[in-house]
Amino acid sequence: MIEKKVDLLDILFFENLSEFKEIGHFVSTRKGGFSNTPYNSLNLGLHVGDDPEDVLKNRKRLAATIRIPLNHFTIAIQIHSGNVKIISEELRGKGCSNHKGAINATDAMVTNIANICLMVLVADCVPMLFFDPVKRAIGVAHAGWKGTLQFIAQHTVRAMEKAFGSSPQDIIVGIGPSIGPCCYKVGPEVISQVANIFHTKKEFILNESRDGEGYFDLWEVNLRQLLHAGIERKNIEIAMECTCHNPDLLFSYRHQKGNTGRFGVGIAIC
Ligand SMILES: [Zn+2]
Repeated sequence: MIEKKVDLLDILFFENLSEFKEIGHFVSTRKGGFSNTPYNSLNLGLHVGDDPEDVLKNRKRLAATIRIPLNHFTIAIQIHSGNVKIISEELRGKGCSNHKGAINATDAMVTNIANICLMVLVADCVPMLFFDPVKRAIGVAHAGWKGTLQFIAQHTVRAMEKAFGSSPQDIIVGIGPSIGPCCYKVGPEVISQVANIFHTKKEFILNESRDGEGYFDLWEVNLRQLLHAGIERKNIEIAMECTCHNPDLLFSYRHQKGNTGRFGVGIAIC
């Protein structure tokens, strides 16, 4: 990833997606916003207990900085599912200024319509951006452990194939900052589900202890899903940036014991 100071904000960009001028994308950080502790300062989540006025000021600042109008931002009520929603023209801007109006109950969105900025909100969960330059289609996904176990990454690729005729080998993917295998300790109840669903746990659960705890590698398991869906390894960029290791730059649910804001990861066709 590339970290850039843009106006007042620090923004991260994927190198692979930056090569395409027909799209805009970003990974926001927690720096440069209006919110107070523990949401300091660029919290973009309206659902985490922060002052909504501050969140809207933060969203406006981000929109102005990346030069995408706020009413193009399209946001979902994320529920840790495997659901993907196709975003049509009339859904543009849903959730941009209130939580209630957001796209209901989905963890991934895809579209081929210009001037719709699909954004997920995260603080440890894995954000993923998708772009098919051939069919000019984009996607975004939010994968915590539950969404990962429901194959949200694969479902997003399948949705692009079905809705837009995308070929997986054309799709460029960015896997953004999220809790890494260095910090993501999980218990036996998660580990047993990983073993059941993927029929193996050895590549995905590291340093399993005698009392059944281990470190879940969400990057690896989502990477495998993308490869399985037909995405080429050379087209996948993994940020390899752990939110829990960088709590000054990024919001981390685990590091802040659940009391924190959300950063945004978004993409739009210009
Ligand atoms: Zn870490």
